[in-house]
Amino acid sequence: MLRRLARLLPQNGRNRLRAWQLKSLDAWRGRRDPNISSTGESADVERDCRFCATARVGHLVIGNVAPTHPGPFEHEDYRLLLCTLCEVVYLDPQPSDRDLQTLYQDSVQFSDKTYSDDAAALRVLDSYTRRIDRLGLVPTAAQSVLEVGAGLAWVSRACKQRSPGVHTVAQDVSTECATACPWVDEYIVGTIQAVSREPRFAFASMTHVIEHLIDPAVMLIEMEARMLRGGHIYITAPYRPPLWKPREGIRPWLHYSYLHVPAHIAYLSQTWLRQAAAKARLEFVHWDDTHDGHQVFEAVLRKP
Ligand SMILES: [Zn+2]
Repeated sequence: MLRRLARLLPQNGRNRLRAWQLKSLDAWRGRRDPNISSTGESADVERDCRFCATARVGHLVIGNVAPTHPGPFEHEDYRLLLCTLCEVVYLDPQPSDRDLQTLYQDSVQFSDKTYSDDAAALRVLDSYTRRIDRLGLVPTAAQSVLEVGAGLAWVSRACKQRSPGVHTVAQDVSTECATACPWVDEYIVGTIQAVSREPRFAFASMTHVIEHLIDPAVMLIEMEARMLRGGHIYITAPYRPPLWKPREGIRPWLHYSYLHVPAHIAYLSQTWLRQAAAKARLEFVHWDDTHDGHQVFEAVLRKP
């Protein structure tokens, strides 16, 4: 019934409805599990914020989180902090290089059914195609597009489908998908530094990647250097649990399907992205944090 009703609602109504469904489910689970039922037990601390690079700024300690990946990790005790200035929620401590290696080099990421089931793949492709259509980001045939942290390169695939003549370049640190994406003309295995630092791209995307980066601001600077004037950068990433307020504390985070510890280093904010875009000499064009039931944000930046 709810599902049928949801199909009749416009997209923003559907996202709102899904947010409320998830929120009531969280409250119900909270009542059943007394260990995580307490909310608002957050404390304040003053410390340097590594995201807005401000010294001695107020932070809210949201609460403790345990690894959601089997590891083994050097560090198993993490907590989530909220910087009251840039509003980024981030993992503390910062995961070590070795733990990041355990996450990315020693494991297979793309084995779940979204990646092997054709119907699921078509749904993902369709959702990216609709997004780039709606935002007016479809590149033209003579243009080049860059997909950062590409994995299976969904956005390149969507661009190719809309505009078969487009030249697609995908970059990823893992070799896992490099030979599985015929819609990618050039699949570069390595960091962003492996993509030549010259302005050649009219469109770049980074979907569900920026939350994994130790220094996301530097990535924006690296991307800006590779964009043509007037080029757009499309970003999506986990935002926070549906309609979460700091006074709700840690509980909604423990049920948040996008909480990946320690893979997701930060849940960024509009305030932070505006600041980081300005530092990278990019214009802030679009922000929408209502995706997937108010759990995911989408943003567009432009090189002037
Ligand atoms: Zn901050």
